[in-house]
Amino acid sequence: MKFKKIAIAAVAAGALMLSACSGSTDNGDAGDGGSGDGGLIGVAMPTKSSERWIQDGDAVKAALEDAGYSVDLQYAEDDIPTQVSQIENMITKGAEALIIASIDGTTLSEVLQTAADSDIPVIAYDRLIKGTENVDYYATFDNFLVGQQQAWTVLNGLGLTDLEGNPLDGAPEGPFNIELFAGSLDDNNAFFFFNGAMDVLQPLIDDGTLVVKSGQTTIEQAATLRWDGETAQSRMEDILTANYSDGTKVNAVLSPYDGISRGIISALTDAGYSTGDEWPIISGQDAEVDSVKAILAGEQYATIFKDTRELAKVAAGMAISILNGEEVEVNDTTTYDNDVKVVPSYLLAPVPVVKDNVQEALVDTGYWTAEELGL
Ligand code: BGC
Repeated sequence: MKFKKIAIAAVAAGALMLSACSGSTDNGDAGDGGSGDGGLIGVAMPTKSSERWIQDGDAVKAALEDAGYSVDLQYAEDDIPTQVSQIENMITKGAEALIIASIDGTTLSEVLQTAADSDIPVIAYDRLIKGTENVDYYATFDNFLVGQQQAWTVLNGLGLTDLEGNPLDGAPEGPFNIELFAGSLDDNNAFFFFNGAMDVLQPLIDDGTLVVKSGQTTIEQAATLRWDGETAQSRMEDILTANYSDGTKVNAVLSPYDGISRGIISALTDAGYSTGDEWPIISGQDAEVDSVKAILAGEQYATIFKDTRELAKVAAGMAISILNGEEVEVNDTTTYDNDVKVVPSYLLAPVPVVKDNVQEALVDTGYWTAEELGL
C-alpha cells in the first residue's frame, strides 16, 4: 500500500488541552485487529539496556500484530550506525511504515530520505526526529510537564510544595543544596525535561532557597551522554569531592531518568551517605523496577511514570491510520519543531510517583505486579 499524504484533522485550540487526555485514549486503538493487510512495519528502538524500551518495543509489536501486521522490531544498543543500518534493512525488506525511537535525533536524515523516496511514512516514537521533513507524526508525552513534575517531586521531598508545585503551609525556609543532572544532548527530550524543571527551580535558585554549590546550572554542564548511569555516577563523585568535602551535605538531586538516579545513588553511597535524615531527595523517570524498589526502600524519592502501553497504542494507531488512508489523531500541532517543520504530535500525560502512590499508579494499573516490586 502506498502512503498518501492526508490532511491532518483540524484541531481546535481547545482540543489541544492535555486535560482532555486522561492518560488513556482510544486514539488509534490497534487492539481491535483485522484491519491489517499482513504487510510489514519496521520498529526501531534505541537500546535494551533500559527496561522501558523493551516494554515499548514489545507493546508496539503486540499492537501491530493484533491489527494484522507483521513487525520487524530491532534494538541498536545505542549505536547510531547500527540503528541507521537496521532502518535501511527494514526499507529493503519492504516495510510499509516505520516507527522509530531514535538514538541521536539528528542522524537519520539520509535514511529517512530513502524511506520518503519509497513513500514510507515515518512515526517518531517518544523522541523527536530532527532536521528532516521526512517525519510524519510524533507520539510522545508532554515532555515539558515531565520536567516540571521532576522538579515538583524534588520540592515535595524537601517539604516545600505538593506534587503539583503548590506551596505547602509551614514549609521549611532552607536553604537547600541541590545538584542538577540532565539527559543526553542528542535527545530533544533532554531539553524539554531540563527546561521544564528549571522553569520551576530557577526562581528558587534566584531567591536563595536552593543553592547549586557546584555552580553547574546549564544543560551542557548537567548533561549525561546516552543517559548513561556510570557517566552520571562519576560526575556526581566529582561534584561531591569538589564541593562537599567540607562536610556540607547535598540535600537534593534533580535526575531526569531512573538509570541516572541509580548512578547518583551509588556515588552517594560510596561517599558515605546513608539512607535516613541526611539522604538527599532524588527524582527520576520511567518507573523502572529497580528504581521503584529504590523508592520503596527510601533511596530514590520519586519517578515519573509514562505508560509505555498507551504510547505504543498511539504510535501503532498512527501507522495503521496512515496505511488505511484515515485521519491521524493529534493533539498538539505547535510544540515540536524539528528545525525543518513542526511535527504534528499526540502527547500523553505523565504521572509522578512517590512511595505513597506506587500501588495505585503502578500495581493497580497492571504495569508491574506486586511480586515484581517485592510488595
Ligand atoms: C525518554 C525517557 C528516557 C530517556 C532515557 C528519553 O528520550 O523520553 O523516558 O528516560 O530517553 O532512555
